[in-house]
This record gives sequence, structure tokens and C-alpha cells, in this order.
Amino acid sequence: MYINITNACPCNCVFCIRKNADSVCDNDSLWLEHEPSFDEIKAAFDKFDKTGVEEAVFCGYGEPTVRAEMMLETAKLIRENTDMKIRLNTNGLVRLIHKDFDITRFKGLLDSVSVSLNAPTAVRYNEVTRPSFGEAAFDEMLKFAADMKNLGIQTGFTVVDIISDDEIDECENLAEKLGIPLRVRHYITDNESYT
Ligand code: SF4
Repeated sequence: MYINITNACPCNCVFCIRKNADSVCDNDSLWLEHEPSFDEIKAAFDKFDKTGVEEAVFCGYGEPTVRAEMMLETAKLIRENTDMKIRLNTNGLVRLIHKDFDITRFKGLLDSVSVSLNAPTAVRYNEVTRPSFGEAAFDEMLKFAADMKNLGIQTGFTVVDIISDDEIDECENLAEKLGIPLRVRHYITDNESYT
């Protein structure tokens, strides 16, 4: 069950699917007419056929943690009403988006988190991710991933294969140093399925 609660994001990744398509797979447009209220999310959740669904995923078109409070409320709704695992796909910058955000609030509500590593160095990260926070972003993203792992939340990194093979190797070394697995994602240029 994929949950798209905002189209807002402080980054402008060169590979962002939003640049190339309005949707993924067979879904309707993922551009929201407005950001859904909790009542609208709950109504959609109630209507959704959850038979056999094992995982709920907070993901794009946008950065879910831009609406961190709504995300937490939604995760609570899922936790209290289903046995689904709950995953967050994120750029890992929630503490730059919301100053003083306490990530321990994710504990018990998220089972896993997938953090966009995107590049092996701060310079390349800024070229690929183009965060509005400038140079602080890379270190904060790494620290977020390490802190989530320390909270006992299953943590993984991703990179998209638009960077060079050598850079992917460097990302693998960096991820290994942090004890966090890395998944290499294939760049999606149009409305094809995620791999
Ligand atoms: S962080 Fe995600 S939503 Fe934001 S620009 Fe990058 S790929 Fe797109």
C-alpha cells in the first residue's frame, strides 16, 4: 500500500521520476490536487482493499517527512488497524526540514526506512540531489540513517545508477562502513515499473 501525502520536497534530484512521468505503473496521476487531510487519508485507507497487503510504504511524489506530523498520525492509524509492516522512503533530511524534529518518534511506528544516499561525497551529493539546504545535507542524511539504525529500525540506502560504476563502488564502501545495506536502483526514464 503506497501512501503519497505530499508533492513537496526540498530537493531537486536529477533522476526524480516526477520530471519524466505523472505516475508509476498503472496508477492515476500522483500529482495531488491538494495535500490530503487526515480525514481524507482515513477515508482512503478505509476504502482500500487491504486483503493480503503486507506492507505500507510512505513514498513520493514528494518527500513524506515534509508532512512529518501527518505521516506519524497515518502510521499510527495503520499500526492500530492492520498487521502491515510500515516503511518510509526518504531523503533523510527531516531534521533540516523541521528543526529539532525528534526522530525517536518514529520508533514503534516504522519497521524500516530506505534512505536515498545518491552519491559518495558531499560535493557529488549536492550535484545529484540539489538540496535547498546546501552542504549540510549530505552529513545530515548519513547521520539520519545511522541514528535510525541505532533506534532498531531496519535501515537501507539506495543509489540510482545514474552515477558512475566507480561512484557506486564508493557508495558501497561507505554503506558498508556504516553497516547499512545498499540497493542500486535502475534509473526510470518513463512510466516503467520500479526495479
Ligand atoms: S528526494 Fe525524492 S521526491 Fe525529492 S527530488 Fe529527490 S527523488 Fe524527487
